[in-house]
Amino acid sequence: MSKPEGTERGGQSNSDNSEEKDWAAVKALFDNAKTTKKPRPPKPSNAVTIAVSSRTLFNMVTERKVFEEEGLERYVAHQLELEDQPFTPGVSFPFVKALMNVNARLRELYPDSEELFDIVLVTNNHAQVGVRLINSINYYDLTIERFCMTGGESPVGYLKAYMTNLYLSKDSKKVQEAIEEGIAAATMFTCDSENELSDTQLRVAFDGDAVLFSDESEIIVKEHGLDTFFRHEKEFENKPLAKGPLKCFLEALGKLQRKFYAKNQRISCPIRTYLVTARSAASAGARVLKTLRSWGLEVDEALFLAGAPKGPLLQKIRPHIFFDDQMFHIEGAQELGTIAAHVPYGIGQKYHKGKRIDASEAEKK
Ligand SMILES: [Mg+2]
Repeated sequence: MSKPEGTERGGQSNSDNSEEKDWAAVKALFDNAKTTKKPRPPKPSNAVTIAVSSRTLFNMVTERKVFEEEGLERYVAHQLELEDQPFTPGVSFPFVKALMNVNARLRELYPDSEELFDIVLVTNNHAQVGVRLINSINYYDLTIERFCMTGGESPVGYLKAYMTNLYLSKDSKKVQEAIEEGIAAATMFTCDSENELSDTQLRVAFDGDAVLFSDESEIIVKEHGLDTFFRHEKEFENKPLAKGPLKCFLEALGKLQRKFYAKNQRISCPIRTYLVTARSAASAGARVLKTLRSWGLEVDEALFLAGAPKGPLLQKIRPHIFFDDQMFHIEGAQELGTIAAHVPYGIGQKYHKGKRIDASEAEKK
């Protein structure tokens, strides 16, 4: 995220007073309403906010087809007819479910803390479709109280207002726009995961270059080859890489992990993070590990594949989500049943399997 370091939560001081009052009023309302079992939505500045689009949370492929082939009126009518029929889960659903499980564990340990995941549903759907979305959310017992119905407009402004820590969408243009604004974001594709996922532990796997880190070293690989890259990484081993688009999300996960460590629950921590990089360990691994260390961040497992395919390893890890900037890694992961999300960032967008692609093709990727 591009929020300037140290100011990201403090940049809104003008409206802070009235905002504090508003939040205090909401807290009082929930504290007094003893009959509700629903948890109070956390304040965005305390929470780790995850914005998911309705098309990633639920499978809306059929509905989308109706919209594209028969138009908006028929689409809305179709949704109204099926209003009581919940959508089937979509590609981000297992991830969202895993976030809820972490929240349940956090609430047990810290009943009064607002340092939790907060999920915002972002949709450009017609308001009439909102009822079916709400019915589906309740059917699956998801805690999603914040809806952001953008009416077709870009959601980036809202994402900023909600202090979004991660945005997941099927629309790569919106994802790209979010990344340009410094918001961690990734594009998801329809993928029927065949892998059974943990329901007690959220597992998140990250690629390194152009995901957690900038693409500065990737540029050297692409433009000058591996030998120059190895020499370069050795020479600059002690110079941390610049941050990449997903760094802040790893940071947010680390913040919540430390809450479990503080209660002596490192072994049973319900969040586990993985670095899955094509880098070679001996030749180019030290720089990324030292960079993470310089940021005060850690990953639970660092896997250096030295150019080997990522799919088979991810199949063993079974992450709820895997982030990569290169489409061929995404495709390889998906073929073996891993839920993968594309981060459209950096020089890798101009290449496919090591070959430079022309601008019009790059646009499609
Ligand atoms: Mg990469």
